[in-house]
Amino acid sequence: MYDAGGVGLAAQQIGVSLRLFVMDCEGIKLVAANPEIISVGGEQSGEEGCLSVAKVPAELKRPERALLRAQDAQGKTFEREESGLAARCFLHETDHCDGRLFIRHLSPLRRDLVLRKFRKLKKPK
Ligand SMILES: [Zn+2]
Repeated sequence: MYDAGGVGLAAQQIGVSLRLFVMDCEGIKLVAANPEIISVGGEQSGEEGCLSVAKVPAELKRPERALLRAQDAQGKTFEREESGLAARCFLHETDHCDGRLFIRHLSPLRRDLVLRKFRKLKKPK
């Protein structure tokens, strides 16, 4: 995650079949196992990228606040509410744990655009 300049990484992204993610975003460092989004509120717009889609960013609306419930590295359940980028990270990484990429939230047209950019970047030169 650090090598790629990311702020969050889910286990599935590195081929590990666990519902677990790590994040280091706006000074918030945490490990979240079995993450669930308990509640959300408000709305924010912003660019979102993903290490699994070669960081091709897309403008995406997300809730402004998100309350996360998960277990820490010791297995202790915790809840944490964040807003802004950290909330976006909670939602993005929990999506990964549920088998969803952020582009799933885009319109079919915009999703296609991101995928075309991604394929272009992946093509050998
Ligand atoms: Zn991602």
